[in-house]
Amino acid sequence: MPYSRGAACGGRAVVLERSPLRSARAIRASMLIDSHCHLEHRAFPEGPDAVLDRARAADVRACVVVGVSGLAAAEAALEICNRRSDVVITAGVHPHDAAEFGGAIGDLERVFGDDRVVAVGEVGLDFHYDYSPREIQRRVFRESIALARRLRRPLVIHSRAAADETIELLEQEGAREVGGVIHCFSEDRAFAERALDLGFDLSFSGIVTFKNARPIHEVAVWAPRDRILVETDSPYLAPLPLRGKRCEPAYVVHTAQRVADLRGMSLEELAALTTANACRRFGPRLAQAAGVG
Ligand SMILES: [Zn+2]
Ligand SMILES: [Zn+2]
Repeated sequence: MPYSRGAACGGRAVVLERSPLRSARAIRASMLIDSHCHLEHRAFPEGPDAVLDRARAADVRACVVVGVSGLAAAEAALEICNRRSDVVITAGVHPHDAAEFGGAIGDLERVFGDDRVVAVGEVGLDFHYDYSPREIQRRVFRESIALARRLRRPLVIHSRAAADETIELLEQEGAREVGGVIHCFSEDRAFAERALDLGFDLSFSGIVTFKNARPIHEVAVWAPRDRILVETDSPYLAPLPLRGKRCEPAYVVHTAQRVADLRGMSLEELAALTTANACRRFGPRLAQAAGVG
């Protein structure tokens, strides 16, 4: 969600700080997938492979890398797939970038010839930052839904301060036909119910670890077990106890642990569950990347 243009990120690598107990439990959580991360050079000058190697060391089996915005970003993300088998990607135009890249959505179509491009996204509406004019955001969102339907790929949705309109546009444009994921879920139960009805799963980010995120905790407890995913949305929104640091896929274990605690499940069970859900949603290439296909 909070992908914000030009935002400063803490620049240094962070070593996981866990109690011995947490470490032991995390080591057994060998089924995690980070279902949404950004690995751009701006945030990770050491390069994506170093970041992904740390994720592997933290039991993250695969990552869905978000290739936004436009063709060059998608191709850069695909380059990572060419070097590694534990990554799949998405391609789309982020609502922040709708004014800049919205005219070229059709150009994206060709990267979807590669089945490692598993979803159209992240796309949607962001009326909090309003980096692009709302009219343009709406148009690009509509075109993105049409693209997903044409390509028969799921959608990865970004929605901030635009809950009602996000749902309305998804309904109007027939997004139900392909479904997808509400990434970085940060709304309430009413929104969650509408999104689930439309065929969208809920992906929890580090926000769910924050103490004041009560409506999100409620949804994490209540959401159907076959409709939940976990993500980092790196490099932003590091989960507790790493809040405020640069976020990276290795940290998804903390988010998974919090969701597991909220649901009264073991971390291992939650990890296996969310991995199965992510693979069902994003398809066999992700399962293959995670070594479970
Ligand atoms: Zn987002
Ligand atoms: Zn994102």
